Amino acid sequence: MSEASRGDGRLVSGGKAEGDEFERHLRPQHLGDFVGQKQARENLQVFIQAAKARGEALDHVLLHGPPGLGKTTMAQIVARELGVNFKATSGPVIAKAGDLAALLTNLEARDVLFIDEIHRLNPAVEEILYPAMEDFQLDLIIGEGPSARSVRIDLPPFTLVGATTRSGLLTTPLRERFGIPLRLNFYEVEELELIIRRGARILNMELDASGAREIARRARGTPRVAGRLLRRVRDFAAVGKAGVVDAARADAALRRLEVDERGLDAMDRRYLGVIARDFQGGPVGVETIAAALSEPRDALEDIIEPYLIQQGFLQRTPRGRLLTPQAFAHLGLAVPANRANLNQLDLLSDDEAGQ
Ligand code: ADP
Repeated sequence: MSEASRGDGRLVSGGKAEGDEFERHLRPQHLGDFVGQKQARENLQVFIQAAKARGEALDHVLLHGPPGLGKTTMAQIVARELGVNFKATSGPVIAKAGDLAALLTNLEARDVLFIDEIHRLNPAVEEILYPAMEDFQLDLIIGEGPSARSVRIDLPPFTLVGATTRSGLLTTPLRERFGIPLRLNFYEVEELELIIRRGARILNMELDASGAREIARRARGTPRVAGRLLRRVRDFAAVGKAGVVDAARADAALRRLEVDERGLDAMDRRYLGVIARDFQGGPVGVETIAAALSEPRDALEDIIEPYLIQQGFLQRTPRGRLLTPQAFAHLGLAVPANRANLNQLDLLSDDEAGQ
């Protein structure tokens, strides 16, 4: 299932969903408007300037991080700052080598080709991407059987910007061909506040500083979620003829949407609840949790778990997922007595566990 089709109807999911076309208005257009991700932004600025000064294509860029953090936005900004065309596609859409060849041969010199969900490329397509990235050459086999022959096509120098929610799923040869790997992290509340205030201005919505802060605190560190919560709060305010939206009004609307004070929704609480109640807090394998919730494993790993890990509710260990005492406290449950025996040395960080 693609990330795009996995908006899954949840208000707090970072995945794209129907109705988000409106997001285009909220998308920052220049690196200067892009709030947060300071390190990635500043590094990009230097590499873009250097590439422009040399008149060369920017080296290939790999953006990785959970959905909704601004990977597509950043890729578009890179093209705009370089003053080149932006073409976008996604891994699962490129079914055959010929599809990729068509895309690549249509590029102009120094253009940006954006491939979302690049970890989901078909291996046969990936194979022809290597020489294209490295030497700007395409090696294609034309025809079948005895009449098949190989042709080599020169490509204009271009920049591939790949985006992935799971860099651990990228093959090593592909990962190594990106000269500029950048990780996007969850946003700070203060950064989300700025994004929300800018969104409110664009939407002509009256939102005071306390209201912006309340929405920011519950937006899962994710600009896409912030934008979505802002629009729903605006609906409640409009229907209730609320006037200026302050923290109390934002809180009332978010409660009705079942988004709690830490930004968790009913699905997150179900996830934590299953591990707490059915598996005594774990460790329990992700497949088992997926089966218990009737949810696909990759949706749990891409959308639900990263934020719960970041918030300190969940740990990934070699023996499975493990709830922290904070998660029990959040659910209003007591920590089971046998939990004290767990060996902390068994715990791996997010990255080590194959994120
Ligand atoms: P991704 O490709 O990582 O899933 P997008 O680039 O599509 O995320 O961003 C999702 C939404 O969040 C867009 O509406 C975009 O305008 C907004 N957004 C993302 N990053 C920022 C940012 N740094 N500042 C303001 N808005 C942002």
